[in-house]
Amino acid sequence: MSFDLGELLTARSGEGYQLHASHLNREVPRVLHAIDFDTVYQRAEGAYCFAEDGTRYLDFLAGFGVHGVGRNHPVVRAALHHALDAGLADLVQMDAPLLPGLLAEQLLARTPGLDRVFFCNSGTEAVEAALQFARAATRRQRVLYCQHAYHGLTVGSLSVNGGSEFRDGFDPLLPDTAVPFGDLAAVERELRREDVAALVVEPVQGKGVQVAPPGYLAEASELLHRHGALLVCDEVQTGLGRTGRFLAYQDDAVVPDLVTVAKALSGGFVPVGAVLSKDWVFDRVYSSMDRVFVHATTFGGNALAMAAGLATLAVLDEEDLVGNAARMGKLLNDQLVGIRERCDLVVDVRGRGLMIGIEFGRPHSLRLRTRWAVLEAARRGLFAQMVVGTLYRRHRILTQVAGDHMEVIKLLPPLMISEVEVELFVTALADVLEEAERGGDLVWDFGRTLVRQALIR
Ligand code: PMP
Repeated sequence: MSFDLGELLTARSGEGYQLHASHLNREVPRVLHAIDFDTVYQRAEGAYCFAEDGTRYLDFLAGFGVHGVGRNHPVVRAALHHALDAGLADLVQMDAPLLPGLLAEQLLARTPGLDRVFFCNSGTEAVEAALQFARAATRRQRVLYCQHAYHGLTVGSLSVNGGSEFRDGFDPLLPDTAVPFGDLAAVERELRREDVAALVVEPVQGKGVQVAPPGYLAEASELLHRHGALLVCDEVQTGLGRTGRFLAYQDDAVVPDLVTVAKALSGGFVPVGAVLSKDWVFDRVYSSMDRVFVHATTFGGNALAMAAGLATLAVLDEEDLVGNAARMGKLLNDQLVGIRERCDLVVDVRGRGLMIGIEFGRPHSLRLRTRWAVLEAARRGLFAQMVVGTLYRRHRILTQVAGDHMEVIKLLPPLMISEVEVELFVTALADVLEEAERGGDLVWDFGRTLVRQALIR
């Protein structure tokens, strides 16, 4: 056999950025070069990625939440090897295979009050399915969503996306309606028109890391039901233990009608999405034999995705990763609050479990204010980008800004981190912020470079 992946990887190692510039979205390598994130990674394990030269990077980004159990977890790898080596009759289509049944059983065992599962291949597909299920179940069309929400980028999901930076250029979208996050009165006002199919909401918004007020989901659910509408919780990012609960809504006294999950269910390997639903919703969607495939997707429930999902749930249990997310989240949060108390530039630390936002704001010190003002005038969010950049270049820690035009960085580490990683991060952040407060050139020079680039672009 002439194809040898190992040989190919060795022969073409290091060409990724060039290939992307030539054949894929060329803005990706352009941005990564501009912010000095153009590392060539070779391998990864747990909470760390390693570059070609062996440099170790602490991963507080977790592939946007995909690597909940940690990178290359041996139990998930073994399950995938097993599924491959078994030579299964996968994707027959005209059968009812075992693995999706087993994964559905496991998911539902962790979500009392939900009865059925639809499998697909990504977060946005899960949201699309949930929106369509809500329409079919209520025979209504209009969906409410929250300002600043993120639910994916296909047309249905984009229509409930609260960020204009994603919507621009893709009109016309569906005529859905935005309400302020956490504002029940606004939900009720819209419901009075009696044409709403559902409210779709993230229990903790990914953008900006905004946490729903306690009781919001339960009260929203009550209001929605009173007006014949459904509650859809999008747990694509918050699900699978991220917030210290299996699903974030479980902190509220509520069972949503539909719940979407994806990302971490993949074990970091095989794309997957799922909608968890109440029985009666499925009964309305799949209402007769004629409608058996009325909503379906070719790869939904494929063996590798299901094997990865089953192994991921087993690892979450065996390693008590949901509990660990709660414990490490508290430790991290407490230490970050300590930094906020001594650092002029930090105005807020918020989040739940291991989904944490750190917000920066205008400092009191006169000297720092001038520098802050220069960055803000060029583009809001540059200071946060500068912190992310310095954490990366100086301390080899991967983080992200929590959204466009906002001074917030987001921490989304794998759920298996220990006190060691918490300490590494907190020490690094304290160092970067102390340097910024001292007016250190390493930090602010990077800011100036970003300003130049922001102005050029
Ligand atoms: N919903 C939420 C809450 C998300 O965070 C994301 C992805 N960041 C999505 C939906 C879309 O998922 P995907 O990128 O897999 O389509």
